[in-house]
Amino acid sequence: MVERVQAVRGMNDILPEAVPWWQMVEATAREVLELYGYREIRTPLVEKLELFARSIGESTDIVEKEMYAFADRKGQWLALRPEATASVVRAFIEHNLQADPLARKFYTIGPMFRHERPQKGRYRQFHQIDAEVFGIDDPLLDAELMVMLCDFLERIGLADVALHINSLGCPACRPSFREDLKRFLHHRAPSLCPDCDRRRHVNPLRVFDCKVDRCREALTGAPQLLDHLCEDCARHFEKVQSYLGGLGVPFMVDPRMVRGLDYYMRTTFEVITDRLGAQNAVGGGGRYDGLMRDLGGPDLPGIGFAIGMERLILLLQQGRSLQGPAPEVFMAVLGEKAVSEAFRTAQALRRSGLGVEMAYGGGSLKSQMRRADKLAAAYVVILGEEELQRGVAVVRNMKEKSQKEVPLSGLVEFFSRRDGSSGGAPDRAQEPV
Ligand code: AMP
Repeated sequence: MVERVQAVRGMNDILPEAVPWWQMVEATAREVLELYGYREIRTPLVEKLELFARSIGESTDIVEKEMYAFADRKGQWLALRPEATASVVRAFIEHNLQADPLARKFYTIGPMFRHERPQKGRYRQFHQIDAEVFGIDDPLLDAELMVMLCDFLERIGLADVALHINSLGCPACRPSFREDLKRFLHHRAPSLCPDCDRRRHVNPLRVFDCKVDRCREALTGAPQLLDHLCEDCARHFEKVQSYLGGLGVPFMVDPRMVRGLDYYMRTTFEVITDRLGAQNAVGGGGRYDGLMRDLGGPDLPGIGFAIGMERLILLLQQGRSLQGPAPEVFMAVLGEKAVSEAFRTAQALRRSGLGVEMAYGGGSLKSQMRRADKLAAAYVVILGEEELQRGVAVVRNMKEKSQKEVPLSGLVEFFSRRDGSSGGAPDRAQEPV
């Protein structure tokens, strides 16, 4: 037997039956993001490894353990992007976009790659909807970003998620917290996993990301960043909360949420669900005011978020189905001589904007009708040799189970007039049931 080649573990095919969900989520994301003034940017999937090491942080899980990094044929170290922020910042700097006053808010949608242990809701290739804003440090923007995220989730039908927010402080106030945390972790050292024992020296905040139970327990009573915020950070965080409150957006302050990337400062947030087991974060983001400067660009503030599309779609699919496109017309053919005319007719109908599926290979009328039914075609156009001689076709309305003869030369017009429609492409995606 010939051995089959299978997909790489943790990298999934998205089959046609799932695609309507992806299209709906993507279309809604674009619509909402554009309503808030975001413009799409598309960056390469492969970047220099250094970009991620310098932005996400050398001692983060993503860079230490999860990156798909490789040397290309010339020995240059590259990586499949594990997230989009670094790439969008790089592109902004590289193309000198700060010179363009319209280039402030960006979004991008596409695959990311992390070598994590695959499980439900966690994959090695996954997709994110990503939004980034540069050059605005107003806390109003932080609130707007979260409101937009909630707006989007509500529009796709996911209102039952919780918004958690926190502030990670800034270079002025974080060092004192770091020292406090280091002291605390020093006393807890015997309970920490080997990774965290190392992290507590190099990057103590990352201990909060650890998923090992005993590390989580060891953090009970740990100092909180919120108690260390400087005046500016505290005021910023208060304003964010008051803007959110002003719009009636429910949120919860979660002082333990540090997010797994080093570049975050001040506002961070996550959208959490209790319907996905361990992988409970649907999306998250935060402010990264020093990142652009650290990557060699202008010293502009930045803020953004990423939503995991697989998790969104898992949630949306729970107990619901979304119909894919069905052809408007199924072209049934009886007899060899009618095939060419049926082919021509199908083409004319498609040019007029109708979705048409053909009966390839002929077969009995019964079997062709069965197929039309399975495809959920709205109409079947039947063309046999006898009809061909008379220059007509039989048009069967599958819903009303009625049929009539229509001259071949008048078919396009017949469909353009039916149900008072204009003959444009029908709206075929159906609402979730
Ligand atoms: P992060 O970039 O880690 O903040 O992740 C943002 C969002 O991307 C998360 O809330 C998840 O929804 C999604 N995500 C992150 N990692 C994965 C993964 N390995 N598989 C599926 N979704 C993921």
